[in-house]
Amino acid sequence: MKAAVIHENGELDVVRVEEVPEPAPGSGEVVLKVTCAGLNHLDIWVRKGRPGTSLSGTHILGSDAVGLVEELGRDVEGVRVGDEVIVNPALSCGRCEFCARGQQSECPSFGIAGLSRPGTFAERVVVPARNLWPKPAHLSVEEAGALSLASVTAWRMLMTRAQIRPGESVLIHGIGGGAALCALQFAKLIGAKVIVTSSSDEKLARARELGADHAIHYRSQDVAERVKEITAGRGVDVAVDSVGAATWPLDFACVRRGGRIVTCGITTGAKAETNLQALYWNQLTILGSTMGSNEDFRQMLRAVTVNRLRPVIDEVFTLDEVRQAMAKMEAGRQFGKIALRVAP
Ligand SMILES: [Zn+2]
Repeated sequence: MKAAVIHENGELDVVRVEEVPEPAPGSGEVVLKVTCAGLNHLDIWVRKGRPGTSLSGTHILGSDAVGLVEELGRDVEGVRVGDEVIVNPALSCGRCEFCARGQQSECPSFGIAGLSRPGTFAERVVVPARNLWPKPAHLSVEEAGALSLASVTAWRMLMTRAQIRPGESVLIHGIGGGAALCALQFAKLIGAKVIVTSSSDEKLARARELGADHAIHYRSQDVAERVKEITAGRGVDVAVDSVGAATWPLDFACVRRGGRIVTCGITTGAKAETNLQALYWNQLTILGSTMGSNEDFRQMLRAVTVNRLRPVIDEVFTLDEVRQAMAKMEAGRQFGKIALRVAP
């Protein structure tokens, strides 16, 4: 079968589309015939490699997918051949203390499809049956294939970790990325006031169309000053940060006393200085968040289905065009999710 793989860590040129052996399902697993897959920043991190980790052999990239169940391994229940399903890419042991509590993303052996097992940028992928969920009927295959990772990440950040409430104000940095746009949609769904930032007038205008209440151009405007103006000097209740080092100091300047900062990503770098005085004096809460538990995923999917929400799709590429697709994401030119059409 055809797949987008890397044999070594590196820049875009290490990504190849080539023939790889057909995967076989183990116990509790199924073979999914992939219709459409979705790109995430995680694919770039996996391709580049993390310091101290090494790649062994051929690795298939990709975490998100929608497809048809083609073959069942042993001991699979609740899934049938021909079912159209999406993949929850979060992998956990299912046995530890944290899994038993239902906090699968806190599992010590937590992993992600495309990171710790072969990914979805392939004609077929083997996934645990318990990671499959019915495709929401109102979504196109491109929308469904790009839904999971960004949506569950945004859901957990806002609903489970920051616990936003109707009427609260939320600052979302760098609108245009998948998780940031999902956060905008979910925050509006719950009735929050949303302020977004970008360096692109076009992205800000599109965010306004999606319901953002205020848009700040972070190159031509002082974000902290504008946030203070918009909130009448108070600051926002919650800052949602998937940008990292570049926006971390801003979060502290923009949240109200007693406010929350929730972070799920480090696109601009992992190391940032924290003003501890601002942290304790203003009684702030810093929340880290990674993907989501099974319950987060269930709630997210329910909210998307009942409210007929659609992830914003930027562009659809073919599997053969995976390098172009990754280049666009790496340059930050996208507004919304980039999808890979795998099957016709
Ligand atoms: Zn576990």
